[in-house]
Amino acid sequence: MQSRPNVAIIGAGMAGAAASARFAGAGLDVTLFDKSRGAGGRMATRRLDGGVFDHGAQYFRARGARFADAVQRWQEAGLVAVWDADHHDDDAHPRFVGTPSMNAPVKALIGDLPVHTGNPVTALHAEGSRWRVAAEGAPDTLFDGVLIAIPSNQARTLAASAGWNPAALAKERYAPCLTLMLGYPEPVELPASMAIEDETIAWIADNSSKPDRPLPRGESDMHCVVIHATPDWSRTHLEQDMQEVIGHLYARYVGMTGIMDEPIHGDMHRWRYAQVTDPLGEPCLITPDQRLAACGDWCLGPRVEAAFDSGEAAAAALLERL
Ligand SMILES: Cc1cc2nc3c(=O)[nH]c(=O)nc-3n(C[C@H](O)[C@H](O)[C@H](O)COP(=O)(O)OP(=O)(O)OC[C@H]3O[C@@H](n4cnc5c(N)ncnc54)[C@H](O)[C@@H]3O)c2cc1C
Repeated sequence: MQSRPNVAIIGAGMAGAAASARFAGAGLDVTLFDKSRGAGGRMATRRLDGGVFDHGAQYFRARGARFADAVQRWQEAGLVAVWDADHHDDDAHPRFVGTPSMNAPVKALIGDLPVHTGNPVTALHAEGSRWRVAAEGAPDTLFDGVLIAIPSNQARTLAASAGWNPAALAKERYAPCLTLMLGYPEPVELPASMAIEDETIAWIADNSSKPDRPLPRGESDMHCVVIHATPDWSRTHLEQDMQEVIGHLYARYVGMTGIMDEPIHGDMHRWRYAQVTDPLGEPCLITPDQRLAACGDWCLGPRVEAAFDSGEAAAAALLERL
């Protein structure tokens, strides 16, 4: 009796997770690999000293019918909620956040599938028509297909290890983002979110105003604010000493908001590949005959929804070959 095909997914962000659900639904054996401690990718929440910081994506919207269906199911299951229902901007689609963490819908898509975390996949080796995945602690398994679901700069190296060098992966498609996280012992007066026209800061978000995030209640709870630097400022200061970056961003934030309260927590995150500036314009890449594909937000645009659509499209394309 022929066993069912198996597939490896490199990257357990929204793109890899959407693909995993599609593969599992088609009856394949699915194994995910992620270099971080858990699933979610840039849908990331950091919990520190009683504070909850969404230091990557702040929210997402659902514009297309397929993603809107998924978001509705997640909302019914309590995995996402509307953030700041009173917020009005030019976009009629509500802003959703994962609850209690941004990665809740990603984890739900992956379900019980095995995820090998904590080590990067460093290479893909062909053995006949199948693939072996090189990562510390990786299972000694041959896979019928592999889906690379990571930012294009990182996908380029991995694809090259498999002898696949598509021109589409050679292009720079991302802007970096330097992110400052501030924790206060008491609430500070901020709108829930502020998009800003400034050379240094692009965005200030009151993370404690999000649904299902603990508001300051006791000594261990913090009021949490996340500040994203602009792409240009982040690019210029990406390799600068982190304490200096914190100092610059903090001074600019105080100048803008007038908030003089003393934070009890200050931390930085350096996103090298934060938001897509130059998407491919196609849902995914696939080799003609090798059962190898690549997907991610870099295919369709700088949004969670684009990552979801790309992951689903890549899974559908690979399924045709498996
Ligand atoms: C600061 C910031 C703000 C944002 N704001 C918004 C917003 O407001 N709205 C919105 O819709 N989107 C926003 N985004 C974009 C959104 O987060 C992304 O488009 C989406 O999450 C990308 O999903 P992905 O699966 O394509 O990639 P990722 O989420 O990056 O997932 C890729 C995964 O691959 C793993 N990985 C990488 N290399 C390897 C390797 N060699 N081996 C194993 N694992 C590997 C990573 O650890 C990661 O978990 C923002 C992003 C950032 C950083």
